[in-house]
Amino acid sequence: MDFHFSEEQDMLRDTIRKWVETEVSREYAQEIDERDEYPHELLGKLTNLGFMGINVPEEYGGQGGNVIDVMILDEELSRRIPVLAWATGNITLYGTSIVSKNGNEEQKKKYLPRLAKGELKFAYALTEPNAGSDAASIRTKAVPEGDYYVINGSKMFISGAGIADVVVTNARTAESKFKGITDFLVETQSEGFSATPIKDLGYRGSNTCQVTYEDVKVPAENILGGPECLNHGWKQMMRLLNEERLLLSACSLGIGQGAFEYALEYAKEREQFGQPIGQFQAIQHKLVDMATELEAARLLAYFAAWKETSGMECVKETSMSKFYCSEVAKRVALEGVQILGGYGYTMEYDAQRYLRDVLVLSIGGGTTQIQKNIIARQLGL
Ligand SMILES: Cc1cc2nc3c(=O)[nH]c(=O)nc-3n(C[C@H](O)[C@H](O)[C@H](O)COP(=O)(O)OP(=O)(O)OC[C@H]3O[C@@H](n4cnc5c(N)ncnc54)[C@H](O)[C@@H]3O)c2cc1C
Repeated sequence: MDFHFSEEQDMLRDTIRKWVETEVSREYAQEIDERDEYPHELLGKLTNLGFMGINVPEEYGGQGGNVIDVMILDEELSRRIPVLAWATGNITLYGTSIVSKNGNEEQKKKYLPRLAKGELKFAYALTEPNAGSDAASIRTKAVPEGDYYVINGSKMFISGAGIADVVVTNARTAESKFKGITDFLVETQSEGFSATPIKDLGYRGSNTCQVTYEDVKVPAENILGGPECLNHGWKQMMRLLNEERLLLSACSLGIGQGAFEYALEYAKEREQFGQPIGQFQAIQHKLVDMATELEAARLLAYFAAWKETSGMECVKETSMSKFYCSEVAKRVALEGVQILGGYGYTMEYDAQRYLRDVLVLSIGGGTTQIQKNIIARQLGL
């Protein structure tokens, strides 16, 4: 057995950690949250360092990294500023991975080099007001008209749709529930496309939007994978799921670790009854539980990622990782608030931001309940 990351992966983690320490002060992260501002400036700096090309194949101008590299990036960013990992994820997952895994050669040549240079932002639109966990019930419709499709409908909770250049849009193109969905690369400049931001509890600045399509004309060549991939949307989405679950696991681990370290520091400094509160066994046990659960979650996540990158079947493990990491991080963030006492309840301290941010991780990308349904099926139930 070997529990080591590669030398390159250790260097990657070290580089990002140092970058975060120098470029993202706690005050700056707090400002972005307060202003509910998309992290354009920080994303630009990460782009200049080449991070948007982290998983773009080398032949298209990227570094050719795998999902473990992206997990390291997301985990480290989430320790200090989760919304930056969210914005990065929209590019590396909903841009690069979607196009790499499902695009035709023309689409790869068109989008991947520009994604690597950070010139394009993507978003992914599946969820609708009446189709959440039951995502294949979508009603947004695409109707053929000459060389075009005309899209009408609306999408809900689409991260980054208001700042994206391209929104990968799942639309109904045939009656069949699963075999009647097509993914379209919709350019957001198209007439009839609009995105309206929704105010969220956490991940402020991630630009969650309601999206409306009113007679949006999309060329048939913008079907993901090309016109021959009509009605392949569900299958294409399935190819992305293991990776999505792993990246959301990494975001959870980063938030959990950030919340834990924040509480640990506080417990060493805050004095009551003449001693640091970290000397009380009750507080020590909380911190020990937090550290232990995080360690177990991290092992599960990277084990699942190892299976994925080794080409092994891993639906059960990635689903376990997604739900376990997000639930652990939620518990850790909540205990973090408790350890800070009254200060944890104020907006001045970061404990509340970790808690607000972490709550969506057991909802987005398939809720904890849906992950458990998937695991139950894998267990033969
Ligand atoms: C901040 C944020 C960002 C998001 N970003 C995106 C995005 O970029 N793109 C995108 O397409 N979507 C996005 N989503 C949508 C997200 O994926 C959905 O919210 C999620 O899939 C759940 O759907 P829902 O909210 O409609 O809840 P519902 O499906 O209505 O579920 C409500 C509750 O019922 C439970 N439930 C539902 N069905 C079952 C079942 N069969 N068994 C047991 N329990 C069940 C759920 O677990 C949940 O607790 C985002 C959501 C948020 C909040």
